[in-house]
Amino acid sequence: MASIFSKIIAGEIPGDIVYRDDLVTAFRDINPQAPTHILIVPNKEIPSVNDVTAADEAVLGRMFLAAQQIAAQEGIADNGYRLIVNCGQHGHQEVLHVHMHLMGGRPLGPMLYRTSR
Ligand code: AMP
Repeated sequence: MASIFSKIIAGEIPGDIVYRDDLVTAFRDINPQAPTHILIVPNKEIPSVNDVTAADEAVLGRMFLAAQQIAAQEGIADNGYRLIVNCGQHGHQEVLHVHMHLMGGRPLGPMLYRTSR
Protein backbone atom coordinates (compact mmCIF):
# COMPACT_ATOMS: atom_id res chain seq x y z
CA MET A 1 0.00 0.00 0.00
CA ALA A 2 1.25 3.46 -0.87
CA SER A 3 2.49 5.60 2.00
CA ILE A 4 0.65 8.78 2.93
CA PHE A 5 3.60 10.70 1.48
CA SER A 6 3.34 8.82 -1.85
CA LYS A 7 -0.32 9.86 -1.96
CA ILE A 8 0.62 13.52 -1.41
CA ILE A 9 3.30 13.27 -4.13
CA ALA A 10 0.76 11.68 -6.50
CA GLY A 11 -1.81 14.41 -5.71
CA GLU A 12 -4.27 11.89 -4.30
CA ILE A 13 -4.46 13.70 -0.97
CA PRO A 14 -3.79 17.38 -0.31
CA GLY A 15 -0.35 18.67 0.56
CA ASP A 16 1.17 22.14 0.69
CA ILE A 17 3.91 21.42 -1.85
CA VAL A 18 6.77 23.93 -1.88
CA TYR A 19 9.25 22.12 -4.17
CA ARG A 20 9.21 19.30 -6.69
CA ASP A 21 11.70 17.82 -9.15
CA ASP A 22 12.33 14.48 -10.83
CA LEU A 23 13.69 12.86 -7.63
CA VAL A 24 12.17 14.59 -4.59
CA THR A 25 9.09 16.47 -3.45
CA ALA A 26 8.82 18.79 -0.43
CA PHE A 27 5.70 19.91 1.43
CA ARG A 28 4.86 21.60 4.71
CA ASP A 29 4.53 19.39 7.77
CA ILE A 30 0.90 19.16 8.89
CA ASN A 31 1.94 19.62 12.52
CA PRO A 32 4.77 22.17 12.37
CA GLN A 33 7.27 22.26 15.23
CA ALA A 34 8.92 25.49 14.04
CA PRO A 35 7.90 28.52 11.91
CA THR A 36 9.33 26.67 8.91
CA HIS A 37 8.85 22.90 9.01
CA ILE A 38 9.04 21.18 5.65
CA LEU A 39 9.40 17.50 4.74
CA ILE A 40 11.69 16.59 1.84
CA VAL A 41 10.69 13.20 0.48
CA PRO A 42 12.07 10.92 -2.27
CA ASN A 43 9.48 10.46 -5.04
CA LYS A 44 10.42 6.77 -4.88
CA GLU A 45 9.03 5.08 -1.79
CA ILE A 46 11.92 3.92 0.43
CA PRO A 47 10.58 2.84 3.86
CA SER A 48 13.51 3.90 6.06
CA VAL A 49 17.21 4.68 6.06
CA ASN A 50 17.75 0.97 6.76
CA ASP A 51 16.39 0.26 3.27
CA VAL A 52 18.58 2.73 1.37
CA THR A 53 21.02 1.24 -1.18
CA ALA A 54 23.88 2.56 -3.30
CA ALA A 55 21.34 2.99 -6.12
CA ASP A 56 19.70 5.72 -4.01
CA GLU A 57 22.81 7.93 -3.77
CA ALA A 58 21.49 10.45 -6.29
CA VAL A 59 18.15 10.90 -4.56
CA LEU A 60 19.80 11.21 -1.14
CA GLY A 61 22.14 13.89 -2.44
CA ARG A 62 19.23 15.68 -4.09
CA MET A 63 17.46 15.86 -0.72
CA PHE A 64 20.31 18.05 0.59
CA LEU A 65 20.34 20.24 -2.51
CA ALA A 66 16.57 20.65 -2.23
CA ALA A 67 16.96 21.53 1.47
CA GLN A 68 19.50 24.22 0.59
CA GLN A 69 17.23 25.70 -2.09
CA ILE A 70 14.08 25.59 0.03
CA ALA A 71 15.87 27.17 3.00
CA ALA A 72 16.85 30.08 0.75
CA GLN A 73 13.28 30.24 -0.63
CA GLU A 74 11.92 30.38 2.93
CA GLY A 75 14.40 33.11 3.95
CA ILE A 76 16.02 31.01 6.70
CA ALA A 77 19.35 30.13 5.04
CA ASP A 78 21.43 32.89 6.66
CA ASN A 79 20.23 32.29 10.21
CA GLY A 80 20.49 28.53 9.81
CA TYR A 81 18.21 25.58 10.24
CA ARG A 82 18.12 21.93 11.22
CA LEU A 83 17.78 18.81 9.08
CA ILE A 84 16.51 15.66 10.79
CA VAL A 85 15.99 12.12 9.50
CA ASN A 86 14.34 9.73 11.93
CA CYS A 87 14.74 5.97 11.54
CA GLY A 88 12.82 3.16 13.17
CA GLN A 89 11.31 2.79 16.60
CA HIS A 90 14.02 4.41 18.73
CA GLY A 91 14.35 7.20 16.17
CA HIS A 92 10.58 7.79 16.51
CA GLN A 93 9.93 7.42 12.79
CA GLU A 94 6.15 7.63 12.30
CA VAL A 95 5.82 7.55 8.51
CA LEU A 96 7.53 4.64 6.74
CA HIS A 97 8.73 6.64 3.74
CA VAL A 98 12.16 8.23 4.11
CA HIS A 99 11.91 11.97 4.73
CA MET A 100 14.12 14.82 5.86
CA HIS A 101 12.64 17.42 8.21
CA LEU A 102 13.79 20.97 7.39
CA MET A 103 13.13 23.15 10.40
CA GLY A 104 13.97 26.78 11.12
CA GLY A 105 12.71 30.30 11.58
CA ARG A 106 13.68 30.49 15.27
CA PRO A 107 16.60 29.34 17.43
CA LEU A 108 15.97 25.62 17.82
CA GLY A 109 18.00 24.98 20.95
CA PRO A 110 20.09 21.90 21.62
CA MET A 111 19.57 18.93 19.36
CA LEU A 112 18.21 16.61 22.04
CA TYR A 113 16.83 17.32 25.48
CA ARG A 114 19.39 16.07 27.94
CA THR A 115 16.99 14.28 30.26
CA SER A 116 18.84 11.00 30.26
CA ARG A 117 21.40 9.03 28.31
P1 AMP B 1 8.58 11.15 11.51
O1 AMP B 1 8.26 11.04 12.97
O2 AMP B 1 10.02 11.54 11.26
O3 AMP B 1 8.17 9.92 10.73
O4 AMP B 1 7.75 12.39 10.98
C1 AMP B 1 6.52 12.27 10.32
C2 AMP B 1 6.01 13.68 10.11
O5 AMP B 1 4.99 13.63 9.13
C3 AMP B 1 5.41 14.32 11.36
O6 AMP B 1 6.11 15.52 11.65
C4 AMP B 1 3.95 14.59 10.94
O7 AMP B 1 3.45 15.80 11.46
C5 AMP B 1 4.05 14.62 9.43
N1 AMP B 1 2.84 14.27 8.70
C6 AMP B 1 2.03 13.20 8.89
N2 AMP B 1 1.01 13.21 8.02
C7 AMP B 1 1.18 14.30 7.23
C8 AMP B 1 0.48 14.88 6.15
N3 AMP B 1 -0.65 14.31 5.66
N4 AMP B 1 0.95 16.02 5.58
C9 AMP B 1 2.07 16.59 6.05
N5 AMP B 1 2.79 16.11 7.07
C10 AMP B 1 2.35 14.99 7.66
